[in-house]
Amino acid sequence: MNTKVELTQSPSFRLDGKRALVTGAGRGIGLAAASVLASAGANVSLVARGEKDVEEAAAAIRARGDKADAFALDVRDIDAVRSAIAVRGPFDVLVNNAGTNRPGPFVDVTEEDFDFIASINIRAAFFVAQAVAKSLIAAKRPGSIINISSQMGHVGAARRTVYCTTKHALEGMTKAMAVELAPHQIRVNSLAPTFVETPMTKPFFQNEAFRTDVLSKIKLGRLGQVEDLTGAVVFLASDASSLMTGTSLIIDGGWTAE
Ligand code: NAP
Repeated sequence: MNTKVELTQSPSFRLDGKRALVTGAGRGIGLAAASVLASAGANVSLVARGEKDVEEAAAAIRARGDKADAFALDVRDIDAVRSAIAVRGPFDVLVNNAGTNRPGPFVDVTEEDFDFIASINIRAAFFVAQAVAKSLIAAKRPGSIINISSQMGHVGAARRTVYCTTKHALEGMTKAMAVELAPHQIRVNSLAPTFVETPMTKPFFQNEAFRTDVLSKIKLGRLGQVEDLTGAVVFLASDASSLMTGTSLIIDGGWTAE
C-alpha cells in the first residue's frame, strides 16, 4: 500500500570514528563509561593516576574487540592535563568523571579537606574541560562534554557540605560552558547519579544505618549500579542528544523527586 506517512528515523547512538577521553577510568563509574563508549564504537582513552588500573581496563576493552588506550594522568596537575590533551587530542567526547569525597560534619571540615575535594571535583574538572574544548575549537570540531556531577549537585545532605558545594559548582559550570561553547557546536551536560555502588561508596555502606537511610530516600528501593548510568552516557555522547546542552540528567531512582 502506498502511504504518505513519513516515519521518524531512529536516532543514532553509535560513536564510530569518535575519540573519547574518560578521566578516573580505572574503576567505578569511569570504567563503566569507558567500556560503554567503546562498545558504541568510540576509540577511548582511559586516564587515572594509577597506570596499572587503566592499562588493564584498556587491554580488556581491546580484548573484547573494541578500541582503547590508556595513560597515567593526575587531573590536578593542570600543566600535565594541558600538554596531554594538546598532544593526544582533540577528543570528540569527554567524560569528566574523576572525583572524590571525604564525608564528615560541616563543623569539622578542615581547609585541607576542602582544598583536596575542590581541587579534583571543581578545579581539575574545569581545566580538563577547558583543554578539551580548546583543542576542539582549534580543530573546528563539534563535541560533547559530560560532567559527572551528582544528585548532590541538586540537593543537600548531612556530612556532605564540601561535596555538595563542589557538585553544585559543577552544575553551574556546565550551564555556563554550554552557553559559551554552543556557537562551536560543543554540547555540555552533566550526569547526576544517586548513590552508586563503587569503590568510592563501598566504605560508606559498611554503616548499616547509613545504607538504610539512603535506601529510604531512593524511591525505587535500590542502590545504583554502574550499569544504570551507561545508557545515559551513550545518549549524552551521541547525536541522539544533539539538541541537549546546559542541562543535567538526573539518575537518582526518584531521590530528588520529593
Ligand atoms: P571511584 O570508585 O573512587 O573512582 C574514582 C576514579 O577516579 C578512579 O579511577 C581514580 O583512580 C580516579 N581519580 C581519583 N583522583 C584522580 C586524579 N587526581 N586524577 C586522575 N584520576 C583520579 O569513584 P566513583 O564512585 O566511580 O565516582 C566517579 C565520579 O562519579 C566522581 O566524580 C563522583 O563524585 C561521581 N559520583 C559518584 C557517585 C557514587 O555513588 N559512586 C554518585 C554520584 C556521583 P586513581 O586513584 O588511580 O587516580
